[in-house]
Amino acid sequence: MDIVELEKGFSETEEKIKKLAAECGNDVEIIRGGAISDTIHFIGDTRKITEKSGYVKELAGVSRIWNVSAPYKNIARVAAGKAGEVVHRQDRIVEVKGLDGLVRKIGNGKHIFIVGPDSPQTMEQTLTIAKQAKALGEKYGILDRMIIRGGAFKPRTRPTDWRGLGWEGIKMLDKVREETGLPYVTEVMDHTMAEEVAKHADMIQIGTRNAQDFELLEAVGKTMKPVILKRGFGNEAEEWFSAAEYIANQGNLNIVLCERGVKTLFIKEGYCRNTPDFNVITHAKKKTILPTIFDPSHVAGDDKIVMQNLLGCLPFKADGSITETLHEESFRKEQMCDAAQALVMSVYEKAIQAILAYEQNISPFVAEMDAYFTNRSKA
Ligand code: PEP
Ligand code: MN
Repeated sequence: MDIVELEKGFSETEEKIKKLAAECGNDVEIIRGGAISDTIHFIGDTRKITEKSGYVKELAGVSRIWNVSAPYKNIARVAAGKAGEVVHRQDRIVEVKGLDGLVRKIGNGKHIFIVGPDSPQTMEQTLTIAKQAKALGEKYGILDRMIIRGGAFKPRTRPTDWRGLGWEGIKMLDKVREETGLPYVTEVMDHTMAEEVAKHADMIQIGTRNAQDFELLEAVGKTMKPVILKRGFGNEAEEWFSAAEYIANQGNLNIVLCERGVKTLFIKEGYCRNTPDFNVITHAKKKTILPTIFDPSHVAGDDKIVMQNLLGCLPFKADGSITETLHEESFRKEQMCDAAQALVMSVYEKAIQAILAYEQNISPFVAEMDAYFTNRSKA
């Protein structure tokens, strides 16, 4: 039992169901439907509450009980009733609030701009980028769509590579938030650190290398913080969605999926770092209720091809992007990690202009095309 459909006007039953959910360790999400009924979704591990479905079924006003057949129950798009009828669940909007009081809504149809250094390295670098982002946010009226990125703890392929400033980097990000009001996302690599990092960060990133570290996924889920979950570079769709379910099963549905490219044979040619799978964005949004964003930096590996990759995700209706940037060109030679793929902020401004132009001029065409295919499949 994952979803209960309840007729309107049965508030006593609603209270009983909420109480039962709390006893079974579930949160509820109530979708106020049209004129006739609402749906109550049980969030988290539903095995215990499922044992009580006989009791729930008999409560006044309960018209139907739905089960989600996908193994990733909490985030699946489609739930099925006993007779095989289906309900399409609504998109999940993930909210990230800044100290400036603005709420960034990921998944509400407008592109979210996550931008910042690969890693905070100096205060000047990190703060300047954040100030530049804030100025661009104000200039284009998109401050409520901007989030800062920066990994203080870096997963590196070679043990001798620079691995980030660690807690000192977190302190820098905290300071940057205090000065600019912008929220920030940072990576956690180890389950023992999730709770402590969550006391600082506004949003947590789980990187591609740790995308199936199940203890980490659960620990980050428990923090209830918004999470960006990158797709493991060799993960199939169901592995990716099931990884997200590890977070959701803890009652945390504040998950944003992120495609960052996969390894293919062609990468040896050296023309890009990872192969972007744009179609997987469409697929993720079809199979799950989660917003899905795109990382053009780690697919590119070279700043000259970041822009086209970034713009490439737009027709696939990515809910936003996460892009690595530089505050000024002269810093590139000092940058310790992912220097070649960092876009200078003056070029990133061009990306903002292009994305806003796209939203205004092309999005209506894409919506029209969608409507055509939706109507055709109904016919
Ligand atoms: C990063 O965002 O800097 C990063 C390490 O990303 P990924 O896990 O996608 O490689
Ligand atoms: Mn990076």
